[in-house]
Amino acid sequence: MAADLTGRHVLLTPGPLTTQLRTRQAMLKDWGSRDNAFVSITTELRQRLLSVVNASATHVAIPLQGSGTFVVEATFATLIKPDDKVLILSNGAYGERMIEIVRRLGRAFVPLRWPEHQPIDVMKLNRTIAQDRTISHVAFVHCETTSGMLNPLEQVASVAIGHGRGVIVDAMSSFGALPIDLSALPITAIVASSNKCLESVPGIGFSILHKNAIAAVDQKSIPSLSLDLYDQWRGFESNGQWRFTPPVQVVAALTESLRLLDEEGGPTERFKRYQRNFLTLRTGMEQLGFRMFLDAAVQAPIIATFLPLEDINLIFEEFWIDLHERGFSIYPGKLTTRDSFRIGCIGALVPSDFDAFIEACREVVGVKRGAPIR
Ligand SMILES: *Cc1c(COP(=O)(O)O)cnc(C)c1O
Repeated sequence: MAADLTGRHVLLTPGPLTTQLRTRQAMLKDWGSRDNAFVSITTELRQRLLSVVNASATHVAIPLQGSGTFVVEATFATLIKPDDKVLILSNGAYGERMIEIVRRLGRAFVPLRWPEHQPIDVMKLNRTIAQDRTISHVAFVHCETTSGMLNPLEQVASVAIGHGRGVIVDAMSSFGALPIDLSALPITAIVASSNKCLESVPGIGFSILHKNAIAAVDQKSIPSLSLDLYDQWRGFESNGQWRFTPPVQVVAALTESLRLLDEEGGPTERFKRYQRNFLTLRTGMEQLGFRMFLDAAVQAPIIATFLPLEDINLIFEEFWIDLHERGFSIYPGKLTTRDSFRIGCIGALVPSDFDAFIEACREVVGVKRGAPIR
């Protein structure tokens, strides 16, 4: 992978994150939104998004201007009708955000919660669905970026589909790296964005919707104009253009980053690189005395949550500044139960970046402990 290492600041965050030079260079042009060249970029983008999850025959890709949350909200607004009811499985902040979205849309929902360190329990899900016939959809987060938890996508989706319910997945921090095969699993909607495992710049989210779900949309009941994915899809299908002003440079960058994903060998190879990043990080941090919040068995190699050191009082804000001066941006914790901080393993980064990061941490922690540790 050709990472450009010249004078860059390394973002160890879940996004915006460190991007490749080619992705940023793809933005150095002024396209008109109706130019043929731009229309064909949009077409390529939509096709490439489908191939990432093996969905070309079964689904449609609908990109939307905005951050990831916009398109999560748009997906619920478009698919959930006034008579529907969503079972929302939550074990972190992004599950809670789905609950808040559906509540604000005024649609019926039931939350089913687990603690932040526990994955979704499929048996419990099965019992809950079996007991409530009014549940029309099940919604959950694939990789809970709050902690780095990997929820069992295939099992959860299979149970819901087995009961004939729709499935909406927030795959924001897994799409492009963790295996998702929609040809084997007829999920209703998979939602993600440009600036996580696709390693592009922020500004676009997208929903991959099953063709049956598109056919079943009741447009009159969609309570929003700008978040109406059905209308957005019709725009693309009629003339290849975006309904409202597209972020043209961001569209070009995301398309380039999808070409780069292909060149790397697709999600399988990207996943392996993230695993190597994560292992380098975990080993190094554990040698410095840091402990991880999650059990290894449920940890995705996407973002790692670390607990504070026990022997010294490392204040996050100071740690952040010390590491920032050394060229690295880390991320605050998001757990509700305890202090923590997070390190992203995704982006245009390789294990040697994490070796360098560990060296920076060793310096900072060593100073705090009174002597550099070796
Ligand atoms: C990043 C993320 C989102 C969307 O966040 P935005 O700030 O709106 O881009 C949603 N869900 C998960 C799991 C995420 O990691």
